[in-house]
Amino acid sequence: MRIALFGGSFDPPHRGHLAIARAALVRLQLDRVLFAPVGSQPLKRGTHPASFEDRVAMVNLAIADEPHFALSLADSPRPDGKPNYTIDTIALVRKELSPADELFLLLGADSFLSIRKWHRAGDLLLACPVIVASRPGFSLMQALRALPAGITDEGEVSAGDVTARRLLGLGGRTSTLYLLPDIEEEVSATAIRNSLARGAQPDSTIAPQVRDYILRRELYRAEPARVARHTH
Ligand code: ATP
Repeated sequence: MRIALFGGSFDPPHRGHLAIARAALVRLQLDRVLFAPVGSQPLKRGTHPASFEDRVAMVNLAIADEPHFALSLADSPRPDGKPNYTIDTIALVRKELSPADELFLLLGADSFLSIRKWHRAGDLLLACPVIVASRPGFSLMQALRALPAGITDEGEVSAGDVTARRLLGLGGRTSTLYLLPDIEEEVSATAIRNSLARGAQPDSTIAPQVRDYILRRELYRAEPARVARHTH
């Protein structure tokens, strides 16, 4: 099977996440996309973040009607309290697959722009083929220039609605970077959290079943105490 690992905060999961997972599924003929909510993200902190358990529940609801999408708990909080590094998550997912399965890593262009800062970035890029989806406001070409030291871009190997670039790294190790252009979902979890904190109702950028969950659990609302502090 061809399987993509799709990690993220999913705080909350939204239309942009589903769009890039669908694009990867179709354009790279994948069999499954594994949505893996991250326990603690080393490079990110949210405003009024939801708990890991709530994010897992929301991902489950968001993908409930999608036969090719599944939840993965491989990026759960680490038992030793250490940060969740993607290279470790890939190793954990691989253990659960059969040797014949092909594993890909899926991320958005904005995430890829910071790839140099990721733990063992060079090894990560060579660990499995990486799929980078376009995101409004972020250039795929700029993302290509963000390759970590020790990794070179050996040029294009095919074209179409997917562009494949061959990566070369230390010791002659190679991998492939797939670029998915033309995904135009102008939505971000930060904007959603901010708007909910201001008291807005969740809108169609979030699946109805996730919307209901957010309302029921009163997620992302500015706490009364926090509002009071700001007004005095
Ligand atoms: P935040 O606003 O909190 O940073 P986010 O909307 O970027 O959140 P994440 O859960 O951090 O959501 O994203 C998981 C992955 O999905 C990342 O690789 C990110 O680049 C990608 N992604 C999220 N939203 C989009 C979008 N609208 N278009 C393309 N990729 C996206």
